Amino acid sequence: MKKQEAPVQKNETVTVTIEDLSHDGSGVAKVSGYALFIPKTIPGEKATVKVVKTKKGYGFARLIKIETESDDRVDPPCPLFQRCGGCQIQHIDYPAQLRYKQKQVKDVITRVAKLPNVTVHGTIGMDDPWRYRNKAQVPVAYQDGEFVAGFYEKRSHRIVDMEECIIQNEHNDAVIHIVKKLAQEYGIHAYDEASHCGTLRHIVARYGKSTGQVMVVLITKGAELPHKQKLIEAIREKVPNVKSIMQNVNSKRTNVIFGDKTKVLWGEEHIYDEINGIRFAISARSFYQVNPDQTNRLYGKALEYANLTGSETVIDAYCGIGTISLFLARKATHVYGVEVIPEAITDAKRNAKLNGLTNAEFAVGEAENVMPWWHAQGVRPDVIVVDPPRKGCDEKLLETMIALKPKRIVYVSCNPGTLARDLRILEDGGYQTKEVQPVDMFPQTTHVETVTLLGRN
Ligand code: SAH
Repeated sequence: MKKQEAPVQKNETVTVTIEDLSHDGSGVAKVSGYALFIPKTIPGEKATVKVVKTKKGYGFARLIKIETESDDRVDPPCPLFQRCGGCQIQHIDYPAQLRYKQKQVKDVITRVAKLPNVTVHGTIGMDDPWRYRNKAQVPVAYQDGEFVAGFYEKRSHRIVDMEECIIQNEHNDAVIHIVKKLAQEYGIHAYDEASHCGTLRHIVARYGKSTGQVMVVLITKGAELPHKQKLIEAIREKVPNVKSIMQNVNSKRTNVIFGDKTKVLWGEEHIYDEINGIRFAISARSFYQVNPDQTNRLYGKALEYANLTGSETVIDAYCGIGTISLFLARKATHVYGVEVIPEAITDAKRNAKLNGLTNAEFAVGEAENVMPWWHAQGVRPDVIVVDPPRKGCDEKLLETMIALKPKRIVYVSCNPGTLARDLRILEDGGYQTKEVQPVDMFPQTTHVETVTLLGRN
């Protein structure tokens, strides 16, 4: 298809009707068939907008005035909403957020996977869609004579100092605040990106919701941490329920938060959390779902779709610290988990032991390489569960799954686009997509998580 020349110019003001919501939460309007993306607008609204950028095929505009307001529009409760990029859709009523997420999944399953008849259920939402995050990772800086900790302003390297984040658990907010004040009091230098100098780069707080345990991680540029002992004492005194104080060293010029070296400054190397009666040890760097209430619902759905009777062999690919694997292990004969990060597998094994589950075994490696090896060893899974990162499953992994012929595949996905791409491949390989269940793991943001059930034809 030929890309359309822009019928509007930069800086031109036009009045448009919003027809759709894009995957990044912008409203989409058409001007003589040409798509304009307009942040903070909602389908159904009529709005006057100013064009800020045009490309062949589509352009961007800024909201000037809403002429007709959608019933789905609400006042975003966070005062930083316009500046922070963390949440994108606080201006949309929660039930409508859930509807848009369902529609987004339905659209992509229809368009990319070419499965217009597959049922996409209504998104499973939260009763209270705020304060849900159990992990905060906050950059620090010294700006205009002040020690600040908060978030990067959109499209910038400036940090906006933040007192609270209303999708963050209150305990994490408090930890960040306390540690920021202490670092300032003890004269610990904030890291400066431009000069690559300074000490403290990020403060990370993790909270085990079911246990109340808190972990503090200080991410520093070098191994040295001035006033270490005094700082530790003060954190212990001021942060209630702190069980673990860790230091992670990241000496690289990078915007990746964690470096390779992690050590205990005080206390335990782990905190614990419990989901549906299974206990998990969480270390500083391990991947652990950030929304514990919804995680229970997500894993519950995955387990329901796995439909285990007790006699099955199951593979859990991309298993992280073994979370889904252990849910499955309670209902299966044997579970094989595979994950690429060695520390996560150490945690997975620890977690299996912690819960007295002896029928789960874990391997370190790329799922696309370990699965063919299991296949060659004679492992014949009845069910395969996959939960890949945003880029989806490796093609070799999809081929191996097809060759292994499990009765059911349960696909947990955080990216509807790559899910749809992979579903097409599995369909062509003899599987049928039965149903798709979106689960809202990240209210107020555009992120969409889904669980999909596939069966063999
Ligand atoms: N199922 C887990 C983790 C899901 S996140 C949970 O719910 O907690 C996806 C995981 O895939 C991450 O832990 C990441 O480290 C891992 N991963 C990424 N690429 C991989 C690959 N090629 N093979 C195996 N694991 C991989």
